[in-house]
Amino acid sequence: MKYCSDCGTEVVKKIPVDDDRLRFVCPLCEITHYQNPKVVVGCLPTAGQQILLCRRAIEPRIGYWTIPAGFMENGETMLDGALRETREEAAAKVKGETLYRLFDIPHINQVYVLYLGELDGDFGIGPETLESRLFSEDEIPWTELAFPIVTDVLTEYFKDRKTGKFPIRVSIPSPLWAKHVGWKLPT
Ligand SMILES: [Zn+2]
Repeated sequence: MKYCSDCGTEVVKKIPVDDDRLRFVCPLCEITHYQNPKVVVGCLPTAGQQILLCRRAIEPRIGYWTIPAGFMENGETMLDGALRETREEAAAKVKGETLYRLFDIPHINQVYVLYLGELDGDFGIGPETLESRLFSEDEIPWTELAFPIVTDVLTEYFKDRKTGKFPIRVSIPSPLWAKHVGWKLPT
């Protein structure tokens, strides 16, 4: 942040009294502008042995496959948000939804909350989606998935389906996605 969102004065970075980390503070109105992680909500829609993926029409990772997910909006619950994203990105409804996966992504200040739900009726595309389609396990385009969390949640889902148990997991994303797509950390 460069300017105060209340008065437009250039903000300074300092540790406010009774605080322990650097914040953006407006020297004029003395407001501390806190910046905190954002919540991304989404859904893994299932249809029998298949799951629904969307190919992204927007950056980042345009043209790559993902699950319906996006930033939570003010005034909605996590589930509201996940269902809204599923409607917006895949023109789909789900039923029997359950909380399935939480990801902490501290290096980009995000938390992901993903639900599992059974596809209810038809599906299509929205403005942020080029195409959407159902994939069985052996059709998943592992090298063309958009993000690490997609690789992780799909890998876990197909394992869980074999046992019939779908425990809620919490972790940071694994290196599996980078391995599949051959992505290397910049040196
Ligand atoms: Zn100000």
